[in-house]
Amino acid sequence: MAHLGLLQKVHPSRGGDQTSGGFTYRTTWAEVASRASEGCRWCQLVYATKEEEEEPGPESPLRIVVGSQGCLQNCTPKGTQDLSVFIDDTLHFIGYVYTTADDPAAQYIVARNRVLDVGTTKSLALAKQSLDECIYTHNSCPRPLALPPFLPTRLIDCSNVAHPRLIATDGTRGSYAALSYVWGEPQPHSTTVSNLETYLKFIDPEHLPQTIL
Ligand SMILES: [Zn+2]
Ligand SMILES: [Zn+2]
Repeated sequence: MAHLGLLQKVHPSRGGDQTSGGFTYRTTWAEVASRASEGCRWCQLVYATKEEEEEPGPESPLRIVVGSQGCLQNCTPKGTQDLSVFIDDTLHFIGYVYTTADDPAAQYIVARNRVLDVGTTKSLALAKQSLDECIYTHNSCPRPLALPPFLPTRLIDCSNVAHPRLIATDGTRGSYAALSYVWGEPQPHSTTVSNLETYLKFIDPEHLPQTIL
Protein backbone atom coordinates (compact mmCIF):
# COMPACT_ATOMS: atom_id res chain seq x y z
CA MET A 1 0.00 0.00 0.00
CA ALA A 2 1.25 3.46 -0.84
CA HIS A 3 0.94 6.32 1.62
CA LEU A 4 0.51 9.97 0.88
CA GLY A 5 2.37 12.71 2.72
CA LEU A 6 1.27 16.34 2.65
CA LEU A 7 3.96 18.32 0.94
CA GLN A 8 2.44 21.73 0.86
CA LYS A 9 -0.95 23.29 1.21
CA VAL A 10 -1.62 24.63 -2.22
CA HIS A 11 -3.58 27.78 -2.68
CA PRO A 12 -5.79 26.71 -5.56
CA SER A 13 -4.44 28.15 -8.78
CA ARG A 14 -5.50 27.62 -12.36
CA GLY A 15 -2.77 26.09 -14.40
CA GLY A 16 -4.31 23.24 -16.36
CA ASP A 17 -3.37 19.71 -15.49
CA GLN A 18 0.10 18.57 -16.55
CA THR A 19 -0.12 15.14 -15.02
CA SER A 20 1.04 11.97 -16.68
CA GLY A 21 -0.89 8.77 -16.13
CA GLY A 22 -3.33 8.97 -13.28
CA PHE A 23 -7.06 9.06 -13.72
CA THR A 24 -9.99 11.40 -14.13
CA TYR A 25 -13.43 11.16 -12.59
CA ARG A 26 -16.55 13.27 -12.35
CA THR A 27 -18.48 14.01 -9.18
CA THR A 28 -20.02 16.96 -7.29
CA TRP A 29 -19.01 18.69 -4.05
CA ALA A 30 -22.24 17.39 -2.48
CA GLU A 31 -21.24 13.82 -3.33
CA VAL A 32 -17.66 14.29 -2.10
CA ALA A 33 -19.02 15.72 1.18
CA SER A 34 -21.42 12.83 1.62
CA ARG A 35 -18.74 10.15 0.96
CA ALA A 36 -16.36 12.00 3.27
CA SER A 37 -18.87 11.92 6.10
CA GLU A 38 -19.36 8.17 5.50
CA GLY A 39 -15.65 7.75 6.25
CA CYS A 40 -13.95 7.65 2.83
CA ARG A 41 -10.40 8.89 3.52
CA TRP A 42 -9.84 9.96 -0.09
CA CYS A 43 -13.03 12.05 -0.20
CA GLN A 44 -12.04 13.57 3.15
CA LEU A 45 -8.71 14.64 1.63
CA VAL A 46 -10.37 16.03 -1.51
CA TYR A 47 -13.00 17.86 0.54
CA ALA A 48 -10.34 19.37 2.81
CA THR A 49 -8.83 21.14 -0.21
CA LYS A 50 -12.12 22.93 -0.97
CA GLU A 51 -11.99 26.68 -0.65
CA GLU A 52 -14.87 28.30 1.22
CA GLU A 53 -16.39 30.07 -1.77
CA GLU A 54 -15.58 27.23 -4.14
CA GLU A 55 -17.22 27.24 -7.57
CA PRO A 56 -19.14 25.39 -8.85
CA GLY A 57 -22.03 24.94 -6.45
CA PRO A 58 -22.58 21.72 -4.48
CA GLU A 59 -24.69 19.99 -7.18
CA SER A 60 -22.76 21.11 -10.28
CA PRO A 61 -20.48 18.61 -12.05
CA LEU A 62 -16.85 18.54 -10.92
CA ARG A 63 -13.93 17.05 -12.85
CA ILE A 64 -11.16 15.63 -10.68
CA VAL A 65 -7.79 14.64 -12.16
CA VAL A 66 -5.36 12.68 -10.01
CA GLY A 67 -1.85 12.05 -11.29
CA SER A 68 1.83 12.80 -11.07
CA GLN A 69 3.49 15.95 -12.38
CA GLY A 70 6.86 14.14 -12.30
CA CYS A 71 9.63 13.92 -9.72
CA LEU A 72 9.73 16.48 -6.94
CA GLN A 73 12.66 18.89 -7.15
CA ASN A 74 15.13 18.99 -4.26
CA CYS A 75 13.25 16.37 -2.34
CA THR A 76 15.12 13.59 -0.56
CA PRO A 77 15.43 10.87 -1.70
CA LYS A 78 16.04 11.89 -5.31
CA GLY A 79 13.19 10.86 -7.58
CA THR A 80 10.45 11.09 -4.92
CA GLN A 81 7.15 11.13 -6.80
CA ASP A 82 4.34 13.59 -6.29
CA LEU A 83 0.65 12.97 -6.38
CA SER A 84 -1.31 15.99 -7.50
CA VAL A 85 -5.03 16.60 -7.46
CA PHE A 86 -6.58 18.99 -9.97
CA ILE A 87 -10.23 19.97 -9.63
CA ASP A 88 -11.69 21.61 -12.73
CA ASP A 89 -8.15 22.30 -14.01
CA THR A 90 -7.14 23.97 -10.76
CA LEU A 91 -4.32 22.48 -8.67
CA HIS A 92 -5.72 21.70 -5.21
CA PHE A 93 -3.15 19.43 -3.59
CA ILE A 94 0.41 18.18 -3.99
CA GLY A 95 1.54 15.29 -1.83
CA TYR A 96 4.48 12.92 -1.96
CA VAL A 97 4.05 9.16 -2.19
CA TYR A 98 5.90 6.76 0.10
CA THR A 99 5.78 3.16 1.25
CA THR A 100 7.75 0.60 3.28
CA ALA A 101 10.70 -1.25 1.71
CA ASP A 102 8.97 -4.66 1.99
CA ASP A 103 5.77 -3.48 0.29
CA PRO A 104 5.01 -4.81 -3.23
CA ALA A 105 4.50 -1.17 -4.30
CA ALA A 106 8.11 -0.39 -3.27
CA GLN A 107 9.41 -1.28 -6.74
CA TYR A 108 7.44 1.67 -8.17
CA ILE A 109 7.66 4.14 -5.28
CA VAL A 110 10.96 5.81 -4.42
CA ALA A 111 10.32 7.35 -0.98
CA ARG A 112 10.10 5.28 2.22
CA ASN A 113 8.18 5.73 5.47
CA ARG A 114 9.47 8.34 7.87
CA VAL A 115 11.90 7.11 10.51
CA LEU A 116 10.28 7.54 13.92
CA ASP A 117 12.93 5.89 16.13
CA VAL A 118 15.13 8.96 15.99
CA GLY A 119 17.63 8.03 18.71
CA THR A 120 19.15 4.89 17.15
CA THR A 121 22.60 4.54 15.57
CA LYS A 122 20.86 3.66 12.30
CA SER A 123 18.82 6.90 12.37
CA LEU A 124 21.90 8.99 13.13
CA ALA A 125 23.76 7.30 10.24
CA LEU A 126 20.81 8.12 7.98
CA ALA A 127 20.86 11.75 9.14
CA LYS A 128 24.60 11.97 8.41
CA GLN A 129 24.05 10.36 4.98
CA SER A 130 21.27 12.86 4.15
CA LEU A 131 23.47 15.75 5.25
CA ASP A 132 26.32 14.53 3.03
CA GLU A 133 23.90 14.02 0.16
CA CYS A 134 22.77 17.63 0.58
CA ILE A 135 26.34 18.97 0.78
CA TYR A 136 27.74 17.01 -2.17
CA THR A 137 24.82 16.43 -4.56
CA HIS A 138 22.22 19.19 -4.19
CA ASN A 139 23.08 21.81 -6.78
CA SER A 140 20.75 24.49 -5.49
CA CYS A 141 21.59 24.10 -1.77
CA PRO A 142 24.32 26.41 -0.45
CA ARG A 143 27.81 24.88 -0.17
CA PRO A 144 29.64 24.85 3.18
CA LEU A 145 32.11 27.74 3.40
CA ALA A 146 35.79 26.97 2.73
CA LEU A 147 36.56 28.51 6.12
CA PRO A 148 34.08 27.16 8.69
CA PRO A 149 31.86 29.85 10.23
CA PHE A 150 32.07 31.11 13.81
CA LEU A 151 30.08 28.86 16.11
CA PRO A 152 27.06 30.31 17.95
CA THR A 153 28.06 32.02 21.25
CA ARG A 154 26.99 29.05 23.36
CA LEU A 155 26.35 25.41 22.50
CA ILE A 156 25.23 22.40 24.50
CA ASP A 157 27.95 19.78 24.39
CA CYS A 158 26.07 16.47 24.24
CA SER A 159 29.08 14.26 23.51
CA ASN A 160 28.59 12.71 26.93
CA VAL A 161 24.83 12.19 26.90
CA ALA A 162 24.71 11.57 30.65
CA HIS A 163 26.58 14.80 31.36
CA PRO A 164 25.53 17.57 28.97
CA ARG A 165 26.95 21.00 29.60
CA LEU A 166 26.96 24.45 28.13
CA ILE A 167 30.14 25.56 26.41
CA ALA A 168 31.14 29.11 25.50
CA THR A 169 32.62 28.98 22.01
CA ASP A 170 34.62 32.23 22.30
CA GLY A 171 35.03 32.85 18.60
CA THR A 172 35.86 29.24 17.68
CA ARG A 173 35.11 28.27 14.10
CA GLY A 174 33.49 24.95 13.22
CA SER A 175 30.96 23.18 11.05
CA TYR A 176 27.59 22.63 12.62
CA ALA A 177 24.04 21.71 11.69
CA ALA A 178 21.32 23.86 13.22
CA LEU A 179 18.35 21.99 14.63
CA SER A 180 15.21 24.03 14.44
CA TYR A 181 12.28 23.36 16.71
CA VAL A 182 9.61 25.36 18.47
CA TRP A 183 10.16 26.26 22.10
CA GLY A 184 6.60 27.30 22.75
CA GLU A 185 6.03 29.28 25.91
CA PRO A 186 8.86 30.60 28.16
CA GLN A 187 10.96 27.68 29.42
CA PRO A 188 11.76 27.18 33.11
CA HIS A 189 15.32 25.99 32.37
CA SER A 190 16.60 28.53 29.86
CA THR A 191 20.07 29.98 30.42
CA THR A 192 20.18 33.19 32.45
CA VAL A 193 23.00 35.18 34.07
CA SER A 194 22.24 33.49 37.40
CA ASN A 195 22.54 29.86 36.21
CA LEU A 196 25.20 30.35 33.52
CA GLU A 197 28.11 29.24 35.73
CA THR A 198 26.27 26.07 36.81
CA TYR A 199 25.24 25.19 33.25
CA LEU A 200 28.86 25.50 32.06
CA LYS A 201 29.64 22.58 34.37
CA PHE A 202 26.49 20.51 34.00
CA ILE A 203 22.90 20.68 32.81
CA ASP A 204 20.56 18.13 34.34
CA PRO A 205 19.43 16.03 31.31
CA GLU A 206 15.98 15.91 32.94
CA HIS A 207 15.68 19.61 32.07
CA LEU A 208 16.55 19.18 28.38
CA PRO A 209 13.92 18.28 25.80
CA GLN A 210 14.34 14.93 23.99
CA THR A 211 14.92 16.85 20.76
CA ILE A 212 18.32 18.04 22.00
CA LEU A 213 19.42 14.77 23.56
ZN1 LIG B 1 -14.46 8.52 -1.58
ZN1 LIG C 1 20.10 20.10 0.09
